[in-house]
Amino acid sequence: MRIEVVLGDITTQTVAAIVNAANSSLLGGGGVDGAIHRAAGPGLLQDCRQLRRTVYPQGLPVGQAVATAAHDLPCRWVVHTVGPNRHRGQTDPNLLASCFRQSLLVAQSLGADSLAFPAIGAGVYGWPPEDVARAAATVLTVPATDWAGVALVRLVVFRPDWVEIFNAALDRAA
Ligand code: ADP
Repeated sequence: MRIEVVLGDITTQTVAAIVNAANSSLLGGGGVDGAIHRAAGPGLLQDCRQLRRTVYPQGLPVGQAVATAAHDLPCRWVVHTVGPNRHRGQTDPNLLASCFRQSLLVAQSLGADSLAFPAIGAGVYGWPPEDVARAAATVLTVPATDWAGVALVRLVVFRPDWVEIFNAALDRAA
């Protein structure tokens, strides 16, 4: 599995699936969630509402992941995951790692061979990028066979100085 860190906008990534740093409600929000919903169009919100009516009436739990279609986005699926909110006392980094792990498992089960992640939790939810990078690296650098079928994982960061932070965490975990 190839792992790359790029500076960019996750909504323009031509991969099989992108990951959304959603909130539990699944009904949209600010940050990357807002950008993904704007780019995907109203069909994405309809799919999310459907998930709330059916499988997640209480909302998607922190650290879990679920997929929808991607509608007007250039990818095929959106995998929604909910990061821990540090401002609400959700300070266990294992929850961050769970977001990366569960999203990969969902992507794998769909047959998505390439997946792009944003810096889950490193915005409104208040995690330092170093912690997010470490969580991602821990999950991604397990023995290659564990992520069989996923050929490419792209970590898409929104700030130039975070490229180095993510690359350093990957180097340390390798
Ligand atoms: P959270 O609530 O999980 O912290 P946010 O959406 O607030 O999620 O932020 C997560 C990260 O995504 C932040 O580092 C933010 O700068 C980044 N981000 C925001 N918009 C985009 C985008 N279009 N593409 C990639 N990353 C983005």
